[in-house]
Amino acid sequence: MKPASGIAHGLIERLGRSSRLVVLTGSGVSRESGIPTFRGEEGLWRQHRPEDLATWEAFDRDPVLVWSWYDYRRRIIADAEPNKAHRAIARLEGDFDDFTLVTQNVDGLHERAGSGGPVELHGNIWRARCTKELTTVDLPGNPLARIPPKCTVCGSLLRPDVVWFGEPLPMEAYETSHQAASTCDAMLVVGTSAVVRPAASLPLVAKHNGAFVVEVNMTYTPISALIDATLIGKAGDVLPKLVDALLDRRSGMRSGNDHQDAEAENGVREPTAS
Ligand SMILES: [Zn+2]
Repeated sequence: MKPASGIAHGLIERLGRSSRLVVLTGSGVSRESGIPTFRGEEGLWRQHRPEDLATWEAFDRDPVLVWSWYDYRRRIIADAEPNKAHRAIARLEGDFDDFTLVTQNVDGLHERAGSGGPVELHGNIWRARCTKELTTVDLPGNPLARIPPKCTVCGSLLRPDVVWFGEPLPMEAYETSHQAASTCDAMLVVGTSAVVRPAASLPLVAKHNGAFVVEVNMTYTPISALIDATLIGKAGDVLPKLVDALLDRRSGMRSGNDHQDAEAENGVREPTAS
């Protein structure tokens, strides 16, 4: 069996043997579906910087402006489609009994690709939260019928159920992801520069606890030197190949059809990265 082009056989072997897998995704995966990162210059909207819109202070000052921006973003997302990376991750999920998808993205594209209930570190743009009761609700309609939307129970303002600048991550999501990172035996980090803390610490938590950690990114990142392997390229190009090879290998392992020795003799097998 020839390994997928450009992906070391040893890497597939090591990932294939894992039983508890965590996949961590970031904005790079969404960008390949045409969704801007809404950071810095790329995120300018009506001359406003995202850093001046995605804050409690901005919302407190002008909730109509902030909700209009989120409405605009939700329309972009509604017109976007999950890409090959989203779908590859959903296929991977189906092959592991113990699988956790952790995402920094708020667009809901993982669910639309078939993933079930990712851990959302930064919330979800399709939900709102009552500013008084802190209850969350799915957002009705797109675009919103009324801006700003109000809580149907108590009449208070609703805010987007996303993490703004200066806010902590949702406690439960962070604890779930930290627990998964601490106990997994392999982690894939996809489309995130791993500089936004505290999500950035998850690959290092996994590595520290003995997991095999692989990233898929367009460029090397601050964690590249600290983990086991870096695959450079678009997630939508790299992940389908990686997942094809991995599912093929795991299928072979389950059927007892282990190619490993024969391939080693043929010189096809590459050294593992660990
Ligand atoms: Zn309420």
